[in-house]
Parts: sequence; C-alpha cells; structure tokens
Amino acid sequence: MVSCLVELQELTVLTKHFCRHNKTPLSPSCPLLPCMHIIIWSTDRLTVGPPMITDTKPKAGIMKVNFFLFFLALTGFSLIGHSVLRVTKDTKPNSEMMKFLQNANTLLLVVAFVSLTGLIFLGYSSTSLRYKEKRFCLNLTKEHQENSNLQSPQGLSYKQPSVVGPDGKVVPVTPWLSPIVWEGTFDPLLIDSIYRQQNITIATTVFALGKYTQFLKDFLESAEQNYFVGFRVHYYLFTDQPEQVPEVKLGEERQLTVLKVPSSNRWQEITLRRMEKLEKLIESRLVNEADYVFSLDVDTKFYGRWGAESLGRLIGVIHPGYYQTAREQFPYERRPESQAFIPYAEGDYYYGGAVIGGLVKDVYEAAKTCREQLDIDAAKSIEAAWQEESHLNKYFLYNKPSKVLSPEYLWQDFKPHTNEVKIIRFSQVIKNYAAVRPNP
Ligand code: UDP
Ligand code: MN
Repeated sequence: MVSCLVELQELTVLTKHFCRHNKTPLSPSCPLLPCMHIIIWSTDRLTVGPPMITDTKPKAGIMKVNFFLFFLALTGFSLIGHSVLRVTKDTKPNSEMMKFLQNANTLLLVVAFVSLTGLIFLGYSSTSLRYKEKRFCLNLTKEHQENSNLQSPQGLSYKQPSVVGPDGKVVPVTPWLSPIVWEGTFDPLLIDSIYRQQNITIATTVFALGKYTQFLKDFLESAEQNYFVGFRVHYYLFTDQPEQVPEVKLGEERQLTVLKVPSSNRWQEITLRRMEKLEKLIESRLVNEADYVFSLDVDTKFYGRWGAESLGRLIGVIHPGYYQTAREQFPYERRPESQAFIPYAEGDYYYGGAVIGGLVKDVYEAAKTCREQLDIDAAKSIEAAWQEESHLNKYFLYNKPSKVLSPEYLWQDFKPHTNEVKIIRFSQVIKNYAAVRPNP
C-alpha cells in the first residue's frame, strides 16, 4: 500500500512535469493517459496556490497529498469502527471493552474532523504556506517579464535608429537594447558551445510551390554546409510537388519532412499564406518537436556560417535594401485602411520577410497575429504593399525583436558588396521573376 502510494505520487509529479512542458511521455493511445489526467486534476485540487508550484517544488505537492490521504484513512477507520461497534453493541451492550472502543472511535472521529478543518484552513487561509509560494511565484513572474514581449506603444515619437554610424562603423545594438548581430560581435565557437549544451532542436520551414522547387537543391545543400552545423535541425518543407524534392544528404541528427500543400495561381497568395501554414504547423507539431523555429525563403543560398548567434526569443532580419534609408522612405504599407499601416513618422528598421525566427511560442504569436491581420485585410479586399512582409514590419515595430540580424543574414546576390557587410551568410539568388512566378 505504502509503496503503491509513493509510486502514485512520483508518477503524478513526473506526469505533471512532462505535461506542463508539452512533452507528454505517454503516447496518446496509452491506457494510462486518462488515469494520469484524473490524478493531475485531483492533485491540482489538493494543492495550495497555483498549480505551477507543484512543478518546481514537487515535495510541497507530495506533502499535501500525504495529508489528504491521512485524513481519508482516519475517516475510513472511524467509519469502519463505528459500524463494527453498532453490530457488537447489541450482543455485549455494557462491557468495559465496549466503552473503551466507543471512546477510541469518538476520538478518531474528532481527529478526522480536526484534520479536515486543518486541511480547509491550510488550503484557504494559511499565510505561511501562501507566503512561501507567493515569493516563489514572484521570482517566476520576474523571470517571465525579463523574457517576455518588448511591446511599444503606437504613435510614440523617437529618433530613427541607425544601422551604420556616421563613422561608417556598424551599430551593434538597437535603442531598446537588443543585439544587432554582425561579424565580430560574437565568438562562434563559444556561442555554439553554449547552445549545444542545451540540446535544442531548430525547426526550419521552407516553402517551394510551383516552379520554386528548382531552388531547393542549392538551398538544402548550402544549408547543410553552413546552417546550424552540429545542431539538430528539422526542415519542414511545404510543396505541391513532393516528387520534385531533390535527394540531399543530410548531416547527423538532421531531418527533412515533406508536407504536401495545394499551390495557388497567384504568387502573392502563396507568400502570404505562409504565415497561416507556419501558425498551423506550430500548433500541430512544433510545440512538441522543436525549441526554435526559423521560416526562410527558398530562393536563397547560404554562403557563410549561420549559427547559434542567431538564436533568441524573437528574431527579425534587417532588409539589405533599406538599412541606410530614412524611415519615411521605407516601403511600409501607407494606407490607413490596411492593418499593416505604419505612419511616416514611425519605424525602426525595414525588416525582410524572407527570415523570421525565434522561440516556437513567440514565432507562433507573430505568425498568428500577421495571419489575423492578413485575414482582416483580405475581407476588405486590401492587399498590403508587400503582403506578409508589410504585416511582419508592423508586428516588429510594436513587438520589438529580442535580437536583430544584420543584413549579413539576408543579402541579395545582385547587390554589390559594401564595406560594412564583411561577410555574406545568406542571400537571395537572382531569379527571373517572369519565369518562376505563376503570375506577373
Ligand atoms: N514561393 C513559392 N512559390 C511561388 C512564389 C513564392 O514557393 O510561386 C515562396 C518561396 O518560398 C519564396 C517565398 O514564397 O521564397 C517568397 O516569395 P519570393 O521569393 O518570390 O518573394 P521575394 O523574395 O522576391 O520578395
Ligand atoms: Mn525570395
């Protein structure tokens, strides 16, 4: 009985831990799963304070379960005693033994009653327990705030940040103190070693619909040479023609999943639907399968290292065409009717739509918001100037990225090299628009 209880408690704590981290150790078909949910539900009811406490302080949860079981046992014993006494009372009404048993039983009932009162008291009014747990909650909340959204209000007036200083030197930080990643601002060996210890999986979504399948070979082959080398990378490739996906030898711990989706006869529709597909993929799979996710254009090639320096909560890339442009000349959506509208007096950088990344949860929020805004526009028959890129720019303006990638991480092959960009890591290849897109 005792070992059984211990097992039950350990199982409860373990299961709660795994469930809260979205990594259920049991398969959905496992017959234990409904049981586990009942246990989690019932022990959550027994827990004083918010359920997250039992995650990190499992002992407190176990104590409370013990207390409850003790109370149950007491009540059980006294009730059994009571019924036994009622039966034997008729045969030996006034013996000494009988009196003693009656008293003992009354005592048990009193203890059970006191335990119940104690349990209720602890659950609803104990300041000492609550205080300890509250203090713990505050710590968690603080940590959460440090890492949470960097939202900024609309209409705020401040100077446009520069990417390259007047002396021609690159600026390594945004005015909200997020790093701008340039060659020379990080040690590749050190940063990769730090993140490698975390045993992370980086999901990478890429879309190759219609004639864009022709870009896949170079994209995948160059990624295998340069992109998160030595890390667990899982490519999720959306295409309407799985048979066109080239055979590319992947490194150790790297895999590719092909997902068949219908194409469209409008390229604008293809590019803007990427947000919706990303949102749904995160919901259905990535929450369980990855830590970080990047969504990348396929008409691209990696020319240099792209590693753990690019990891962060929410990642945007500065578009190579506009890093020295005044904000009022950014190609933002300027019609107030569109959800992507940005006034001329606002804007930090012009972000490229070819790269979006970060923690699965944060990319989910970004993709979901952009998809919702795109839907509102679509219902009003408005298409923003640069489809999902316009909506992404609006999102990043008011939800600041926690790390910004310099144009090293998104160049254009046709663009001549400049002094400030020392290394080109990822670049859009030259394409004949008329030949690859389904419509002009
Ligand atoms: N795309 C696609 N098929 C198309 C058009 C676009 O698969 O017919 C996808 C592809 O992943 C591409 C991305 O949408 O990289 C963005 O479109 P595109 O590269 O044409 O936009 P640009 O980078 O030229 O603005
Ligand atoms: Mn592109």
